[in-house]
Amino acid sequence: MTELLANHVAGRWQQGTGPGTVLTDPVLGTALVRVDATGLDLAEAFAFARHTAAPALRAMTYRERAALLAAVAQRLQAHRDSYYEIATANSGTVRNDSAVDIDGAIFTLGQYARWGEALGDVRVLRDGDAASLAREAAFVSQHVQVPRHGVALCINAFNFPAWGLWEKAAPALLSGVPVIVKPATATAWLTQRMVRDVVDAGLLPAGALSVIAGSSAGLMDALQPLDVVTFTGSAETAALIRSHPAVAQRSVRANIEADSLNAALLMPGEVQGSDAFGLLVREVVREMTAKSGQKCTAIRRVLVPQALYGAVADAVAAQLAQVSVGNPRSEGVRMGSLASRAQLQSVHDGIAALGACTELLHDGRLQPLVDADPQVAACIGPVLLGARDADAAAAVHDVEVFGPVATLVPYRDLDHALALAHRGQGSLVTSLYGSDDAAVAGAALSLAASQGRVHVVTPAVAKAHTGHGNVMPMSQHGGPGRAGGGAELGGLRALDFYHQRSAIQASPAVVASLGL
Ligand code: NAP
Repeated sequence: MTELLANHVAGRWQQGTGPGTVLTDPVLGTALVRVDATGLDLAEAFAFARHTAAPALRAMTYRERAALLAAVAQRLQAHRDSYYEIATANSGTVRNDSAVDIDGAIFTLGQYARWGEALGDVRVLRDGDAASLAREAAFVSQHVQVPRHGVALCINAFNFPAWGLWEKAAPALLSGVPVIVKPATATAWLTQRMVRDVVDAGLLPAGALSVIAGSSAGLMDALQPLDVVTFTGSAETAALIRSHPAVAQRSVRANIEADSLNAALLMPGEVQGSDAFGLLVREVVREMTAKSGQKCTAIRRVLVPQALYGAVADAVAAQLAQVSVGNPRSEGVRMGSLASRAQLQSVHDGIAALGACTELLHDGRLQPLVDADPQVAACIGPVLLGARDADAAAAVHDVEVFGPVATLVPYRDLDHALALAHRGQGSLVTSLYGSDDAAVAGAALSLAASQGRVHVVTPAVAKAHTGHGNVMPMSQHGGPGRAGGGAELGGLRALDFYHQRSAIQASPAVVASLGL
């Protein structure tokens, strides 16, 4: 029997009382550990975080809470090697791909620690200047931001068990709001281990960080009006969260990060072999293969001038053919596996769904796996599709295949390209590749309304740019419409979600006494 991982709620470790769900190695098919949340007293868990941990966090200043984050980052850094082992075993990722998750998490924590330190020893944040409400400013309105008196329920997707936890927990804890994290079951081990390491080190006030691994049953029911829920996952589950009475009736604040049909756009006027052409090809290949395409920000649609359709197809296919796929423990393997056989089936289904309106430009499904059994491993080589009739290929703008799959889409002119990008109905990110600064700037602003982020790659930033799909804590993560309508990160803007803004209407003398 495999080990049953404990949950941490109400300030203590507690095992579920059921048989649990087995987590497996997606390459070898072997059982790893089990998770189970049966029998937990969720009312007690949420009450403890709300009434014991939250006041302890709020008693601290922003600088003191920032110091907690720095200590957490240090603790995780010390245990980094064990996280890599878990990621290889439970997510099937090669070292570079595990780094995106693990080192990305530690970097994000460290960044929030630095930003929090700069906020200083205050417990309330000033929000703008006072505005006069009466003659000679005898009575004024001063907005302030204070921590919400609730808990943050953080529900995560399977693809980022480390970063998904800390990109949410860092701003929440810095704001003074305790966190209850619910990792996706398939890859819950890494999340649980990180929480275990932090809790057991006694770095945080009791109950400030809880983990519930296993079924999500009852979690949303436990939320009260001043709590928040921040969700990352599929559009279907997002719809359940939005319509749950906690959100729909009790006004629990919800942030939703859902799926997204992100695009890369090679600007008109570029020619085969130009710098921008090469930069786009490189980024498309990187995005299709990093984490086997299991990134919410991955490039799904590649928009290119009609005349370059064949040249881009050949260039991308040539590089994809060099990508070895298989057991992440094997020397030379560049791309590991998907998170599970269920995900593999979903990727096959997605490719089939796009089949009617696309042609196959590169089919990695046929390539042999390195040191992995195709009957067992959740591995698949990259697949490049092409939609010659961009307007008619409705599925390309609607079906997110969550794996190493992208579609090449030819456009007539810039207006057509921008219209196609907008057909994602709201995305996390679109990247632009061009050498005319004014032209890419104009295109970036045209796209901004439907994108959470626009990543502009000109030859001048060939080496400096941070990558289409990499989510940096300095930039907002989240997109409108189909992408869920959420906003995370973006520096200290992230704290807004965990704060309550209030307008204090008073005399200037009282406002001066607020200590802002
Ligand atoms: P999912 O099936 O929707 O699951 C997401 C999380 O929700 C899991 O923790 C899941 O727990 C939990 N959950 C399921 N039903 C629930 C319910 N009724 N109430 C509360 N929680 C519930 O998504 P996934 O398959 O893990 O993730 C893949 C999707 O996430 C992709 O579509 C991808 O685009 C999207 N994604 C988006 C972002 C972003 O930032 N925008 C980032 C990463 C991924 P269980 O695992 O126990 O079912």
